[in-house]
Amino acid sequence: MSDCSLADTIAANLLAVRSRIGRAALAARRDPASVRLVAVSKTFGLEHVQAAAAAGQRDFGENRVQEALPKVEATARLGLHWHLIGHLQSNKARKSIGPFSLIQSVDSLDLLRRLEAAAAERDTQIDILVQVDLAGESTKHGLAPADLEPLLDEGASCRGVRLRGLMLLPPYFDDPERTRPFFRRLRVLRDELVGKGRAPDTLHELSMGMSHDFEVAIAEGATMVRVGTAIFGTRG
Ligand SMILES: *Cc1c(COP(=O)(O)O)cnc(C)c1O
Repeated sequence: MSDCSLADTIAANLLAVRSRIGRAALAARRDPASVRLVAVSKTFGLEHVQAAAAAGQRDFGENRVQEALPKVEATARLGLHWHLIGHLQSNKARKSIGPFSLIQSVDSLDLLRRLEAAAAERDTQIDILVQVDLAGESTKHGLAPADLEPLLDEGASCRGVRLRGLMLLPPYFDDPERTRPFFRRLRVLRDELVGKGRAPDTLHELSMGMSHDFEVAIAEGATMVRVGTAIFGTRG
């Protein structure tokens, strides 16, 4: 594929995804602007990121710090926002503070504390989401709902770490309707936490929904959708 057709393809895919987001939001009587599109560029190269950026995309998601860093550095002048959406090892917490504007995958008190210490050290702040595991999948990262409150308590008293909401990576089903109950449960969980008196702005974001199910996630209240394949194509 020549660069020109790559750029055209990505621009067209982005347009299609944005229009699907808009339709899903309107169908749910939501403002389309209340759903942020995070373009997941993991395994894809710099030219893919640059093509998406040229088509107006601002938010990008990566799974791994090491893979993200060269892309973050090479696009520094473009003013992009980078989201870390994969598991973050505690010993990489310090490295993640500068490059990422949102760490979506905080799943332990240890990691929260390391991020807080790293932010203090750099005299900066870092926005985070807490990754929740609603299915009890031992193979995946994420906190069980029962373990959520101690982390939220501590997060609320952090100065460098700013809690923004919850992230969900549900079990995979071909049929997105089967994922709907998980999306709904994340929203209900959030609403219950706010109902118990937690500050709404610390739980505003619900990051859920991927290429094959983001419309359902939006119907259930997603404020961020993480879309890779539908924008960049199938990963090798
Ligand atoms: C890869 C990935 C995505 C994007 O998945 P697609 O099906 O390609 O849209 C979203 N979220 C996480 C956590 C991922 O690892």
